[in-house]
Amino acid sequence: MTAQISLSSPDITHVERDLVAQVLQTPHLSMGPMTPRFEELVANFVGTRHAVAVSSGTAGLHLALIAAGIGPGDHVITTPFSFVASANCILYQGATPVFVDIDRRTLNLDVDLLAVKVRALRDTGCPVKALLPVHVFGQPCDMGRIMDIAREHGLVVVEDACEALGAEFEGQPVGTFGHAAVLAFYPNKQMTTGEGGMLVTDDEGWARLFRSLRNQGRDDDGTWLCHVRLGYNYRLDELSAALGVAQMERIEELLHKRERVAAWYTERLQGVAGVQVPYISPRTTRMSWFVYVVRLAPAIDRDAVMDRLARQGIPTRPYFPPIHLQPLYRERFGYREGNYPATEDVARRTLALPFHGNLSEAEVETVCRALEEAVGDA
Ligand SMILES: *Cc1c(COP(=O)(O)O)cnc(C)c1O
Repeated sequence: MTAQISLSSPDITHVERDLVAQVLQTPHLSMGPMTPRFEELVANFVGTRHAVAVSSGTAGLHLALIAAGIGPGDHVITTPFSFVASANCILYQGATPVFVDIDRRTLNLDVDLLAVKVRALRDTGCPVKALLPVHVFGQPCDMGRIMDIAREHGLVVVEDACEALGAEFEGQPVGTFGHAAVLAFYPNKQMTTGEGGMLVTDDEGWARLFRSLRNQGRDDDGTWLCHVRLGYNYRLDELSAALGVAQMERIEELLHKRERVAAWYTERLQGVAGVQVPYISPRTTRMSWFVYVVRLAPAIDRDAVMDRLARQGIPTRPYFPPIHLQPLYRERFGYREGNYPATEDVARRTLALPFHGNLSEAEVETVCRALEEAVGDA
């Protein structure tokens, strides 16, 4: 018997369809009025002075590191427990990612280890220039400690908030702590533009630089064929921006729907033997639910549980395989198992369940019953 439940799903209504259709009535499919409208909505929601739309979250991370002056020889500290893009963007600039292991509860950078690592690198004269914390699964990092460490050592902070639009740490929205932050709008995120991303910052100079870099290095006042720096085509098109405008107008609804589904899961799974529900730090004053990830007891064969659920029409994902153990990183840097024990232990046991805002309570029940049975027999 198959249940046919989707792992993730965008939440698209007639509001989105109508606005995208409106763009198609005009000749402005790129660089039109929708992009600045979308940028203003995101800046207002996050609480930054500037927002600059780009073609993906990955593109946004790349531009943030360029603005931070990261280049060959530089070192940037980040987490090995994330989507690969948060470390790859460091490689794009010819710099070296330095990983620091995670806190086993929040799954974010362990700030005590971070402090020790920064000091050790500084003591050996290593050119560590920036911190790239990731608010993994929509839970904010300890931005208080991270900003303290950055200030003490004069480091730039770029927040990877690609999974955390709307999250708050001690009452302050993520994206407002670092020198810049990046949001992403792939269809499985809290809101989508198809492909798309957004840089947010209070720094006027950085915002101007982002606008130039995403647009082939053209200057502000820019003559069309005058390129003052090495730029990229990282622009967001108007159809995607229109989708973004319509989604931002529904953003509180979208976040609340996901919150409700997460609450159903937690209520149903709390107390199920062998299944650990997501830990929410007391300092997380708002969780932004990107995925719903449970952790299985060490004795349970996670992959066997995934196979069994798949046979029942319930898709799951092993979020995340450690970045340092990806073939590219093993080959380039010689990483191997044992380098980041907390990350590796968590990564072996985590399981992302089907999760989106339109999941019904009955579907959540179906998933939970199947999970409970699979774990019970494992
Ligand atoms: C989604 C995501 C990104 C960027 O993704 P794109 O697909 O390039 O938009 C970056 N970092 C993390 C942690 C993500 O989850």
